[in-house]
Amino acid sequence: MLNGMTGKILRVNLTAGSWEIEILSEEFYRLYPGGKALAGYILLNEMPANVDPLSPENVMVIANGLLTGAPVSTTTRFVVSARSPLTNTYGESEAAGFWGPELKMAGFEAIVVKGKSPSPVYLWIQDGEVEIRAADHLWGQQPAEVQDAIRTELSDNKIRVLQIGIGGENQVRFAGITNDLRHFNGRNGMGAVMGSKNLRAVAVRGKTRYQAIAHDPKALKALGSKLAKRVKENPQSWALQNTGTPGLVEPLNTSGMLPTRNFLQGAFEKVDQIKWEVYESELLTARRSCYACAIRCKREVRVDGEPSVYGGPEYESIGSLGPNCGVGDIHAIAKANELCNAYMLDTISTGMTISFAMECFEHGLLTLDDTDGLELRFGNAEAMLTMIEWIAHRKGLGDLLAEGVMRAAEEISGSQYFALHVKGQELPMHEPRGKYNVGMGYAISEIGADHLVVAHDGMLANEDGIPFKNARPLGITEAQSVLSMNDEKMRQFYILEKVTSLEKVIGYCFFGPAPRGYILIEEVVDSVNAATNWDIKLDELLMIGERATNMARVFNAREGFTRKDDTLPERLFNPLENGALEGESFPRDEFESALTVLYGLKGWQPETGIPTRERLDSLSLGWAADLLE
Ligand code: SF4
Repeated sequence: MLNGMTGKILRVNLTAGSWEIEILSEEFYRLYPGGKALAGYILLNEMPANVDPLSPENVMVIANGLLTGAPVSTTTRFVVSARSPLTNTYGESEAAGFWGPELKMAGFEAIVVKGKSPSPVYLWIQDGEVEIRAADHLWGQQPAEVQDAIRTELSDNKIRVLQIGIGGENQVRFAGITNDLRHFNGRNGMGAVMGSKNLRAVAVRGKTRYQAIAHDPKALKALGSKLAKRVKENPQSWALQNTGTPGLVEPLNTSGMLPTRNFLQGAFEKVDQIKWEVYESELLTARRSCYACAIRCKREVRVDGEPSVYGGPEYESIGSLGPNCGVGDIHAIAKANELCNAYMLDTISTGMTISFAMECFEHGLLTLDDTDGLELRFGNAEAMLTMIEWIAHRKGLGDLLAEGVMRAAEEISGSQYFALHVKGQELPMHEPRGKYNVGMGYAISEIGADHLVVAHDGMLANEDGIPFKNARPLGITEAQSVLSMNDEKMRQFYILEKVTSLEKVIGYCFFGPAPRGYILIEEVVDSVNAATNWDIKLDELLMIGERATNMARVFNAREGFTRKDDTLPERLFNPLENGALEGESFPRDEFESALTVLYGLKGWQPETGIPTRERLDSLSLGWAADLLE
């Protein structure tokens, strides 16, 4: 009997305007319990290779984690997956908030969307009932207007709305998806995929609380209560509640790891104008949370003196639209963040694409003719705001930049060096030249540059630190330098990646479980068992994480990705220009050797990076090995 899940998958065919419900077995879910694992299984089995990501043949999966909606801190997450139009790889983007828990309460683990509607539509899901409704009147509107319109139309102001914006409608390759206006599946262009299907929104409402489907609701409640009280005891988690991710700006600048001017530099001379204290006094109106989360890292802000409905900028958005573009005006950054959210563009890729264009302009590779007279220089906040508008509407140079830096660089002669991406996805705001596992994560990630592959190096560099102590159950017992890629560090990388992948399968936020967060590894195991009655052990859970990563890897291998794609942009192999890490570069030879060691640990072929049949068989993925043959 299924516990902790409804077992139901909603399958929607937008071409036919039809839907049906599939119920899968407990045996299936034990291998692929949700999120990344469920999405990976469906994509690999139901989509052939070489599908155009923006065609009706692309399959989009929206999948809750196993525990999403449980009354346990940070179990909020769901993934959206499809072939990515930005990278052509397996695509994936995660979000927290309240929408995933509401989908679970409405009776579904996941939604599989196929085909393309002949005209704009939205899905309305309520307690197991489904309707495909016309959305012509919502097309071209901003998310706040769309959310209001749907709630009014359906006479329920508690409906949770997942939706794209004008960026997704215009198939900007890094368009994202928003829920409740302030939580985002930002990365990998999943909003463009949704837009290509003429699917503007998915509205959900449900009444079945997670406790009603859990095996041991009392144990889950007790764990939830314990975790609610314990946040203060963990400095990393407590800092997130106090400052949120914007609190990272100043410390990263001090340590020389605040990406500045398109990763040319690691320190920003105007950091005092954008640090947390300024954010707090100039922008902050409230601290908020996601469903049942005790960390409460979300910020509410005012923009142009008015409360913004789109949430406050996170560290990633401040970094990409601030120092990375040479902009030191906290109000301009907040405005840029709001514009990205209102058009539903990924803030990281937007900022990185504009910084790429700014550097091209500084070097004369783009001229005033190309920019329609815009002085697109580092530090020009007005030009940045204008360019966000142009990207969303694909106007002027914005049409080219809407393709992302990899494709834009193919059109701008001599600009390749300024295009900072891995597999086509623009770099997040973490500096690999100061934390090598982050660089390895960027290179090896199946979705292109991603900062959520492993807990960052600093967490495990200090044996006296709480994160290091909490990592011991994982077999991590030796602290490693942040500037090392030795064999032991790669062994730790291999383990930590399984943990993060598991989080994406069972629905925990990256900030929740140890070593990054305050929830002990044994409590993660306990929570799964209280929900499911599986009596599952840590080893099997880590294997689930590894299985999910391998399915994504097989997807990419089938699309022709190999070892040559697991690399970093050339600039990172060159020295940083300023800051505490001035002169540091990412060590190319050490990286290549470490990559070979890591492939060995993962059971991937050293020359190609493709999983061996032996490893796939050991992960119960023999069927995936067959796909490669
Ligand atoms: S830690 Fe932050 S992002 Fe994660 S679930 Fe909690 S409030 Fe949401």
